[in-house]
Amino acid sequence: MRLVKHLKNAGGLIHEKDIAPDIIVSIGGDGTLLSTFHKYIEFVDRARFIGIHTGHLGFYADWQGYEVQELAQAILESDGESISYPLLNIEIDLIDGTHYNQLALNEFSIRAISGTMVSEIYIKDHFFETFRGDGICVATPTGSTGLNKSLGGAVIHPRLDAIQLTEIASINNRVFRSLGSPMIIPRDEWFELRPHVHSDHKEMIVSIDNMTYSDKIISCVKLSVAQERIHFARFKHTHFWDRVKHSFIGINDNDSMDKNPNNYLK
Ligand code: NAP
Repeated sequence: MRLVKHLKNAGGLIHEKDIAPDIIVSIGGDGTLLSTFHKYIEFVDRARFIGIHTGHLGFYADWQGYEVQELAQAILESDGESISYPLLNIEIDLIDGTHYNQLALNEFSIRAISGTMVSEIYIKDHFFETFRGDGICVATPTGSTGLNKSLGGAVIHPRLDAIQLTEIASINNRVFRSLGSPMIIPRDEWFELRPHVHSDHKEMIVSIDNMTYSDKIISCVKLSVAQERIHFARFKHTHFWDRVKHSFIGINDNDSMDKNPNNYLK
């Protein structure tokens, strides 16, 4: 591969076993970056990630495939600068008593496979509401442009240390009621979901980023802003709102609406 060749020629160390990486490069789309994040999760607080975009949406990717020579040079000359974003901490209690902890870069979601999911929602240990509907999603700021956005959640600037809960098709009528709006909480608060478990134990599907589990019967899940953060190498990091615009609107800079603020008033 050309990037490896450029780096090796300049004396860089590439994927030596037993050596913690300084830089982790993901080549593909966001799905690939999510897989890379989970594969190298033990290094997440120390290494810097770089995304090379090869044809998918590539929301997380700053570099194009044809820029590898420039990227190799930037890596070799880098002074270690990075930009870091919040992650989601997920503490899960299963009904069999198992407890485990996981991080997400985009989001955690829980849905009913069939029928209505019922779950108590607590915020910072206070009972908030009983949710009834298809499911619940809790996303990070960088994940806010993923599933969260499709559910009507807000796009959150990743400098905000916050997480966002969105409902998936809630039932709202005279009998059952939940807030209906997305909720955004800061670092010192947390959501706790306590889904009602039916006797057949087969009604939940849980997703953490691009991984999906149907065998985890959750009795309680606590979701908060993680202590750990993901770091991206900074030498070419696209402005967040340019990234959002490029991914979802795609209007080019010659668009007159962009240049003439009066047009926005029309
Ligand atoms: P996928 O179904 O192959 O990917 C779904 C799409 O979401 C892809 O176009 C992907 O970009 C894009 N994406 C992923 N993370 C994003 C982010 N933070 N901001 C903007 N777009 C993002 O699923 P996958 O590859 O396994 O990835 C799982 C992620 O996809 C989930 O974490 C979730 O956020 C998102 N997703 C969204 C929906 C939805 O909007 N209804 C449904 C399922 C999953 P690439 O093409 O570059 O990979």
